[in-house]
Amino acid sequence: MKDLFGYEAKPRGKHYVKPAGYVMPPGSGPDEKTCKDCKHLCRIRFANTYLKCGLARSAWTGGRKSDILANSPACSKFEEGEHLQEDIQGA
Ligand code: SF4
Repeated sequence: MKDLFGYEAKPRGKHYVKPAGYVMPPGSGPDEKTCKDCKHLCRIRFANTYLKCGLARSAWTGGRKSDILANSPACSKFEEGEHLQEDIQGA
């Protein structure tokens, strides 16, 4: 597969884990909106910051598989607004 500039895309490493913590399939929501515009986005702060979907909280794990990407296209549960849920901070 080629990127925007016509170069071959570099394959992901064998240990790459694709974030898949979306409550609904990304892209099923309004056009041109992303998870970072959604009020359900949660920022979990430990040594690093991890992004999770607040509506999928029952499926959260400590792993990357339940993370989401801020720039993913919005899903059908998208609600615009400030992040209502407080950021969760690690001890
Ligand atoms: S658009 Fe909102 S509800 Fe949908 S996956 Fe992203 S953060 Fe969760």
